[in-house]
Amino acid sequence: MTLELTDVHVSFGNVRAVAGVSLTLASGSRMGIIGPNGSGKSTLINAISGIVRATGSIVIDGQRLRSGSPQGAAWRGISRTYQTPQTFTKLSVIENVMLAVRAAETRGPATWFQRGEYRRTVAALEFLTTVGLADLAEESAAILTYGQQQALALARALATGPKVLLLDEPAAGLNSAETEALSHTLQTVNDAGVSILLVEHKMDFVSALCPRVAVLAAGKLVADGPPAEVLSRPDVIDAYLGV
Ligand code: ADP
Ligand code: MG
Repeated sequence: MTLELTDVHVSFGNVRAVAGVSLTLASGSRMGIIGPNGSGKSTLINAISGIVRATGSIVIDGQRLRSGSPQGAAWRGISRTYQTPQTFTKLSVIENVMLAVRAAETRGPATWFQRGEYRRTVAALEFLTTVGLADLAEESAAILTYGQQQALALARALATGPKVLLLDEPAAGLNSAETEALSHTLQTVNDAGVSILLVEHKMDFVSALCPRVAVLAAGKLVADGPPAEVLSRPDVIDAYLGV
C-alpha cells in the first residue's frame, strides 16, 4: 500500500503548520519523521488520517483521500496512535480492543465479514499478545501504567487491520525496557506487511527502526535519507538547535 503526499499544506489562521510536504511511503516500508517541537509532525499525521483539512494530495494505492475525512482514511487502511494514548479507562483492557475490532467491521470494507463475539474475542486477544498485554486482558484499563496504555492504544490501532500505521511519538514517556518492547512489536507488525510512518523524538529508537528518516522544520521537509546520513547534516543539526 503506497502512500503518496504531494505538496500538502495545513494552516491554522496565520500559522503554516505544514507548508508543502511531498513524500512517498513505499508499500511495506518504515519511515521516520523527526523535527523540533512545533515543526508540524503531529499536524502532518493529522492531515493523513483526516483529522485536519489539508490542501495538496494524499494518495493511497492510486486512490486520492478526501481531505478532512477520518472515516475515508480509515476505510483506505490508515490507522494511527496519538501523542497521548487514547483508551477507555472505564472498560477492561480487552473490551478496549474489541471496540476497535467492532468499529473496523462496521466502518471498513470488510462489512460483509461480521465476526461472532467469540471470534472477536480471539482476535482481540491476538492483538493484545502482539503488544504484550495478554496477561492483563481482563483488568480494568484504568490500572495500566502509561507505557501499558500506549501499548493498548497500539493494539486498538492494529485491531482496525491497517495497511499504513501512523505513530505520533509512541516512545515518549516509555522506559528503556518498554521502548525495546515497542521496537520489537513494530518490527513484527511491519514484517506482517504494514507500512509504518513513525514520528519520534528519540533518535536512537528511530534510527534502529527506520532505514529512512525525513526531517521537518517549520512545516517543510529539509532532509530525507538514511538516519546516519541525515543526522550528520549541518542543516539538520541547525534545525534542531533552532538556528
Ligand atoms: P509538532 O508535532 O512537530 O510538535 P504540531 O504539528 O503539533 O508540531 O504543530 C505545528 C504548528 O501548528 C505549531 O505552531 C502549533 O502551535 C500549530 N498548531 C497545531 N495544531 C493546531 C491547532 N489545532 N490550532 C492552531 N494551531 C495549531
Ligand atoms: Mg507533535
